[in-house]
Amino acid sequence: METTLKILVVDDDEVDRMTVRRALKKAGLSAELTEAEDGAEAIAHLQGHMFDTVLLDYRLPDWDGLSIIRQIHELNIKVPLIVFTGQGDEEIAVEIMKAGAADYLSKTRISSETLPKAIRNAVRIHQAEMAATLATQRLRATNELLVLQNKELERQQQQIRLQNLQLQEAYRLKSQFLATMSHELRTPMNAIVGFSQLLLRQYPHPLTSEQVDIVQRIFNNSQNLLNMINEILDFSKIEAGKFELNFHEFDLAQLVKLTAEELRSLALQKKIALEVDIALTNTKVVQDLNSLKRVIINLLSNAIKFTEEGQVRIEVWEVNSERVGIAVKDTGIGISPEHLETIFQAFRQVDQSITRKYAGTGLGLAITDSLVKMMHGKIEVESQVGVGSVFRIEIPRKANA
Ligand code: ADP
Repeated sequence: METTLKILVVDDDEVDRMTVRRALKKAGLSAELTEAEDGAEAIAHLQGHMFDTVLLDYRLPDWDGLSIIRQIHELNIKVPLIVFTGQGDEEIAVEIMKAGAADYLSKTRISSETLPKAIRNAVRIHQAEMAATLATQRLRATNELLVLQNKELERQQQQIRLQNLQLQEAYRLKSQFLATMSHELRTPMNAIVGFSQLLLRQYPHPLTSEQVDIVQRIFNNSQNLLNMINEILDFSKIEAGKFELNFHEFDLAQLVKLTAEELRSLALQKKIALEVDIALTNTKVVQDLNSLKRVIINLLSNAIKFTEEGQVRIEVWEVNSERVGIAVKDTGIGISPEHLETIFQAFRQVDQSITRKYAGTGLGLAITDSLVKMMHGKIEVESQVGVGSVFRIEIPRKANA
C-alpha cells in the first residue's frame, strides 16, 4: 500500500491549486496537502513540518521560485521541489534545475498522469539521495574512526619502539656492568687463589694441620668463585659479541682425556666413576681448543655435580667424515621435560631457590650453547628424572669448512 505523501503546494492562484488537487485525486495518489499562497508562508510551513515534496509555482507575489529554492537550501531543509513554470519559461527551467530543484512541470501540462509521475520520481530520487548521503556520512565517520585508531596504533608502536630502545640500553648497561664487575673481581680473586696455593706448599714454613685445612678451604672457595666470575665475564663477552674464537688443529682425543683427568678428583670426591670412551680413527680436528675445552668442562662438571651415585661417561665418535660427536652421559638426578626447554637460557636453573642444593650461576649451559653454535655445531639433551641425562653435541671436524 502506498504511504500517504505530505505535499506542500505553494501557489497564489486558487484555480491552479485546485487543478493540482484534482489531478492528484483523479490519479488516486494518497496525499495530505498543505497549501501556501506565497514564499514567506511556504518557508514558515517548511520550518515547522516535514514534507515529502513541494510543488512550487515559479511566479509568486513576493519571491520568484529561484529565491525560494536558495532560501530552502540556506535553511538546510531537505525536500524535493517540483517547480511549475509558465509557457516559454525554458531558460528559467534550466536555472531552477541548476539551483537544485528535483523537476519542473509546465503549468499547462499538469494532469493526473504527469503530476503524480513527477512527484513519485522526485520522492524516489530524493530518498535514494538521502540514503546515499547517510551512507557517505557513515563511511566518513568510520573512516575518521579508522584514522583515529591508526593514529593510536602508530602512537603505541612508537611507544613500543621507545621501550625497546630503553630495554636494549638497559640490557647493554647490564652486560657492561657484569663485564666490568667480573673483570674487577678477577684480579683480587687471582691473588687469593695464588697466595693460598703458595701457602699450601708450606715452604719454607710448615703449617699445622688446622692451618692447612683452613688454607685449603680458602683455595677451594676462591677457585669456585673465580670460576663463577670467569663464567659471568665470558657470558657478558659472548652477549656483547666480543668473544672471539681461534681455530687451529689439535688432537681431540687428547683434549677429552686431559680434561676428564682434570675433573677426576671431583668425581672421586663423590665416589662416582668417570669413564672416557673415544672411538675416533682420525683424532685431529680444526676447532677452537679453549672453547671446546670449556664446553666439555661445563658438561662434565654438571654431570658430576648432579649425580649422586653411578657414573659419568664421556664418549667421542665420528658422525661422518666431516663431523664429530661428543656425548656426556650421567646416572644423576635427571631433568623433567618442562625444564628441558629452559635450561639453556641464561640464569635458568631447575632449582632456583636460595636454599638449593647445587651451587652455580646458571650460565654454564647458556655459554655452552653459544660456544657450540659459534663452532658451527649443535647441542641436544635427553633426560629422565631419577635415571640420568645425556648431553650430545655435534661439531664440524674443520670449523671453517
Ligand atoms: P648451573 O650448573 O650453574 O646451575 P647450568 O647452565 O650449567 O647452570 O645448568 C642449568 C641447570 O640445568 C642446572 O641448574 C640444572 O638444574 C640443570 N642441569 C644441567 N646439567 C644437568 C645434569 N647433567 N643433570 C641434571 N640437571 C642438569
